Amino acid sequence: MTTDATDGFVHVRGANENNLRNIDVDIPRNVMVAFTGISGSGKSSLAFGTLYAEAQRRYFESVAPYARRLLQQVGAPHVQEITGLPPAVALQQRRGAATSRSSVGTITTLSNLLRILYSRAGDYPAGADHLAAEAFSPNTSAGACPRCHGLGVVHDVTEELLVPDPSLSIREGAIAAWPGAWQGANLRSIVMGLGIDVDKPWHSLRKRDRDWLLFTEEQPSVLIEPEPGRVDHGYYGKFWSARSHVMHVLADSTSERMRERAMRFVEEAPCPDCQGSGLRPEALAVTFLGRSIAEVNDLPFTALVTLLRPVAERPAGADEVASRICTDLVARVEVLLDLGLGYLSLGRSSTTLSPGEAQRLRIATQLRSGLFGVVYVLDEPFAGLHPADAEPLLDVLDRLKASGNTLFVVEHDLDVVRRADWVVDIGPGAGEAGGRVLHSGPVADLEEVTDSVTSAYLFGRSERLVHDARAPQGWLRLTGVHRHNLRDVSVDIPLCVLTAVTGVSGSGKSTLVTQVLAEDPTARESFDRLVLVDQRPIGRTPRSNLATYTGMFDAVRKLYAATDAARARGYGAGRFSFNVAGGRCETCQGEGFVSVELLFLPGTYAPCPTCHGDRYNPETLQITYRDKNIAEVLALSVDDAARFLADVPTVARSLRTLREVGLGYLRLGQPATELSGGEAQRIKLATELQRAHRGHTLYLLDEPTSGLHPADTALLLRQLHQLVDAGNTVVLVEHDLDVIATADWVIDLGPGGGDAGGRVVATGTPADIVQADGSVTAPYLARRLE
Ligand code: ADP
Ligand code: ADP
Ligand code: ZN
Ligand code: ZN
Repeated sequence: MTTDATDGFVHVRGANENNLRNIDVDIPRNVMVAFTGISGSGKSSLAFGTLYAEAQRRYFESVAPYARRLLQQVGAPHVQEITGLPPAVALQQRRGAATSRSSVGTITTLSNLLRILYSRAGDYPAGADHLAAEAFSPNTSAGACPRCHGLGVVHDVTEELLVPDPSLSIREGAIAAWPGAWQGANLRSIVMGLGIDVDKPWHSLRKRDRDWLLFTEEQPSVLIEPEPGRVDHGYYGKFWSARSHVMHVLADSTSERMRERAMRFVEEAPCPDCQGSGLRPEALAVTFLGRSIAEVNDLPFTALVTLLRPVAERPAGADEVASRICTDLVARVEVLLDLGLGYLSLGRSSTTLSPGEAQRLRIATQLRSGLFGVVYVLDEPFAGLHPADAEPLLDVLDRLKASGNTLFVVEHDLDVVRRADWVVDIGPGAGEAGGRVLHSGPVADLEEVTDSVTSAYLFGRSERLVHDARAPQGWLRLTGVHRHNLRDVSVDIPLCVLTAVTGVSGSGKSTLVTQVLAEDPTARESFDRLVLVDQRPIGRTPRSNLATYTGMFDAVRKLYAATDAARARGYGAGRFSFNVAGGRCETCQGEGFVSVELLFLPGTYAPCPTCHGDRYNPETLQITYRDKNIAEVLALSVDDAARFLADVPTVARSLRTLREVGLGYLRLGQPATELSGGEAQRIKLATELQRAHRGHTLYLLDEPTSGLHPADTALLLRQLHQLVDAGNTVVLVEHDLDVIATADWVIDLGPGGGDAGGRVVATGTPADIVQADGSVTAPYLARRLE
C-alpha cells in the first residue's frame, strides 16, 4: 500500500477516535464516498471526528499559528497520520442550533443580495434619502424596527390572560398574574388604600380602574394601615400594575420558575409597527416592482423567480444594476427550486425548518461558492427526503463532484449508497462492537462481506417484517382542515392500525400530523391518551442527558447514596448530582467542560482542567459501586450499563427499552445537546414504552426512521407494530418505502410542496396507493412491493 499523496487517495493510518480501532483506510478523492454502518458503529467518528477534524485543525494552524495552544486544549483527532487530505467543509445536521434571528435568507445569504437590490435599485419615496444595504436588515441597528428591536414580534399582556376568571374579586385572586403570598396581600392592601373595592367581582369594577390596575406604569407608594394578623404597624408599599409586575419578572428575575409563570400571562403577537417584518418604516417604504422588501421576503421561491425573471432578462442598456442582481438571484433561487424547496420563502425563520430542509439550503449555497478541490463532509443529506426529492439532490452533488470536489457522505439511504462511487462500511456492531473497517471499495464488492449488516440490507439478505393485515376499528373524521398549505382538507384516520402519511417535502405531512391531528379536539376525546413523539431536543443544555431525561439517574444516585462509604460520610443522593453544589466540580459547575474563546471560531468547549470531564469533585468520586464511581457509570453505553445494572429493576427496564429502539450505543451521560433529532425522538419513544399503559393511545410520530440504518429501522418498526397489536393507533409521517410497505393504511399528500401540495392525493392500503393516479409516491412504492 502506498501513502503517496499524489495517487488520488486520502490515506488514514492509525485512527483511534472514539470507538475506532486503530484503523487504516484509503479513500479516493474526486468521487462520492458513502460512509455506512449501523448507528454508533463509528461512521461519524471517521468522517467528522477524524477526517474533517484533521482538515480543520490544519487550516487553523495555517491561518493562526498562535491559536495552536488553544487548539491543543480542544484536542486533535486521535490519528497517527493522514496524507492526501484536501481542505474540508462540513455540512452537519445536528450542530449549529437555529436561532429565531436566522432565516432562509440568511442561511442562503440571498438576503444580502436582496438588500443590495433594494438599496441600489429600489424606488424611494419622493425626497427620501437612499439607504445603505444594512438598513434593510432587521438584525442591524440601522434597520431594526425600534419597537420590537427587529424581532418582528412583541410580547404583551392581555386582560383575558391576566384575569382568567372575571367573576372573582381581587381578594379572591382575580388578578392571577399578581404574585401570591405576602407580596400579593401587600398589593391588595395598597389597592384598598387607593379606594378600590377588593370584594366586588372583577367584571363589576369600573373599566377605568380595571385598566389602571392591569396596565398603568405609575407606581404610587401608599401608606398601609396596620391589619390585624398581617401587619402590626403601618408602612409605605409600592404599587405594581399586573403588566409592570409581569414585565419586571421577565426582564429581571433570575428564577426560571418565576419567568415560566410570567410567560403564561403574555402572548406573542406580530409587531404592530412593522407588521412582523422587524424593519424600520423608512426601509419598508422602499419598493421594487411595487413591493416592499418584507413582501418579497414572504413570497415562496416559485413566485419570487416569476417576479424577478423579467428583470433578469431585460436587454442591455436598461437598469443594469437591477438586472445584474436579479440575474444572480434568479440563478441561485433556481437551484433551490431544483432541490424541491420552491415552497420556502426568504423570510421563513430557520427555527421552523426541518433539519433536511436546512441542510439542503446549505448545500445549495455551497454549490454557488465556486470552491474546488475541497472535501464536502455531509451528515445524512438524504435523511427525511421523499425518494422524489432525493433525485435532484443527487444531481446537485454530482455537480459539486464535477467541479473537482470530493464528497464524503454519511448515509443510510440504500438507494443513495447504491449511487456512490465508493463505500466505506464500518462495523460490524455499535460502540465497542464496531469501529472496524469492514469494506472500503466499490459498492458491488460489499456483497461479499458477510459480517456487514449494511451488505445484508443492500443485497436483500435481511428478513422482511411480515404481519397480518389489520382492519380499521373505526375512523376519526377530520373535515374542513385549514392550516399552512392545507386548505379545506377532509380526511379519515383509521383507528387501531398503523397509518403512514406520505408525500414530497412541503406537501403538508407534518402540518397534518403534528399540528392538526395533535390539536384536534375530537382526537383528544376519542383516545384515552394522545402522545406526540417529535424530534425536538430533549433539553437545550449539556446539563440534561439521557440518564436524567429518562429518570434512571435518580435511581442510580440512590444506589450510590446507599453504599456503606456514602452513608459513613453522610452523602445523600443530592451529593451525586452534577447540577447542585456539594458533589460536583466547582470549576465547571458540573458541566465537565469550560468554554474557550478562539479568535476565529465561535465559542468552543474544552474539557474542564480540574475534573477532566468527570463533572464531580474527587471526594464524590471516591465512592464506588461495584468498583465504578458515578462518573464512570455516566460514561457507560446503554448496552454496557444494561449488564452493569441488570439487577436494579427500574434502571434495567429503562435500559431495555432504550436498546429495543436501537439506542444501545448511546452513553448514559451523553449531553442532550449532542443528540440528533432522531435520537431525541427515539429516547422519547423509549421513555413512553417503558411505562405500561392501559387504554387506547394515539401515537403521532414525525419521520421516526429518518437517519436510521435499515437494521435500526427494522427494530423501531417492530416496536411500532407491537404498539398497534396492543390495541393502540399509530400515525407516522414517513419516507422509508420499507416502512410504508408494512403500513396498514397510507394517506398520500401532495402532489407537490407548498401551494402545489396540501391535498389528499390518495388513501388506502399500500397496494391501493400503487394504483392511484397522480401520486408521486406510487411509482416508488410499486417498485418496493414487486
Ligand atoms: P455513527 O456515526 O456510526 O452513528 P459515532 O461515530 O457517532 O457512530 O459513534 C461511535 C461510538 O463512539 C459510539 O459508541 C458513540 O457512543 C461513541 N462516541 C461518539 N461521540 C463520542 C464522544 N464525544 N465521546 C465519547 N464517545 C463518543
Ligand atoms: P411536510 O411535512 O410534508 O414536509 P409541512 O407540513 O412541513 O410539509 O409544510 C407544508 C407547508 O406549510 C409548506 O408550504 C411549508 O412551507 C408550510 N409551513 C410549514 N410550517 C410552517 C410554519 N411554521 N410557518 C409557515 N409556513 C409553514
Ligand atoms: Zn417591529
Ligand atoms: Zn470540572
